[in-house]
Amino acid sequence: MTDQLDQAQQFEEQRRSDALRDQALKPAMPFTGNCYNCTDAIEKGCFCDADCRDDYQTRIKLKGINGYV
Ligand SMILES: [Zn+2]
Repeated sequence: MTDQLDQAQQFEEQRRSDALRDQALKPAMPFTGNCYNCTDAIEKGCFCDADCRDDYQTRIKLKGINGYV
């Protein structure tokens, strides 16, 4: 009985620390009034459309692989 409870607790703690780590890796992007990808003026969000978001995320991933140049 107690073993099962411990496992559930451990799982919950693991899940919570994973969520915290994900948050740390992906800091919130504040609204700047401009698209993060092409710097066009926008009224809400971080990108003017899904294409810009994809472009930006691809660039961020490449940066992560190549390091900061
Ligand atoms: Zn854009």
